[in-house]
Amino acid sequence: MYQFGIFGNPVEHSLSPIIHAQFGKQTRLNIGYEKILTPLDGFSAAAKSFIGQGADGFNITLPFKVEAYKLANELSPQAKIAGAVNTIKVEGDKLIGENTDGVGLVQDLTRNLSITLKHKVILILGAGGATRGILLPLLQQQPKRLMIANRTAEKAVKLATDFAQYGNLCGFGLEKIKSQPVDIIINATSASVDGETPKIVPAVANGAICYDLMYGIKTPFMNWAKTNQAKLIVDGTGMLVEQAAVAFEFWTGKQPTTKMVLKKIRS
Ligand code: NDP
Repeated sequence: MYQFGIFGNPVEHSLSPIIHAQFGKQTRLNIGYEKILTPLDGFSAAAKSFIGQGADGFNITLPFKVEAYKLANELSPQAKIAGAVNTIKVEGDKLIGENTDGVGLVQDLTRNLSITLKHKVILILGAGGATRGILLPLLQQQPKRLMIANRTAEKAVKLATDFAQYGNLCGFGLEKIKSQPVDIIINATSASVDGETPKIVPAVANGAICYDLMYGIKTPFMNWAKTNQAKLIVDGTGMLVEQAAVAFEFWTGKQPTTKMVLKKIRS
């Protein structure tokens, strides 16, 4: 039996146990998957204790992705570049860190929603851990331009500098967004958690695809997108299921299918 889990604080809301149970059924693998509410100063100790109990791997959610990056003693290229880890595989003494968030987002956009990213103008709102995780997979799709806008402008500028070698991107403050529509807006801020929308010029949403990484509720950003004539409005449920599928394959070598699981989660 495989033993998996997810560390987070809070973690009660996590849908990952349900998703992985479905993947286990589908691939006929016997898996256990538990939610582990982790004290804010206790990630490393909790992870080591889980590993000591024979864990085969685990996911990491807010706010421990950078600590998980430090805990891993081997990193995938994607995790190394992202500087954050959301999946760890335990192989003897090896703790292999991976970041499946970005690939999950790209799979959802391109496969589930049939959106081509090549030659598109993409605007990302936010410059936190999630943005760091999604930048490389998005740039690998060769968009025409990728812009990062953040409330704290310096963070967006720094991210754009850090990733400059991987594609055409720039970073600036939210107030610098032009009144000009873009193809895709990705809300990677945590503003929705506080019931807020990043304060940006409305015209940028006109005819755009608006994607909120947050899931489970109709977010203020999604309502804002509707008011401002977005073409398509999507939440992060697809990304959640797709990133879980990539993690499941990383741990077990078996690739689950996501379509029915996504349908179940949405309903
Ligand atoms: P971080 O805490 O690392 O970053 C938060 C970002 O949001 C910062 O850029 C911050 O700006 C910005 N922000 C917060 N509040 C506001 C506001 N009121 N107005 C404008 N900007 C604001 O969070 P993460 O990057 O880790 O996560 C971001 C979101 O992505 C979360 O909602 C998370 O749930 C979601 N997520 C979803 C996934 C999925 O599978 N669907 C996977 C990963 C993340 P500043 O720098 O100025 O503070």
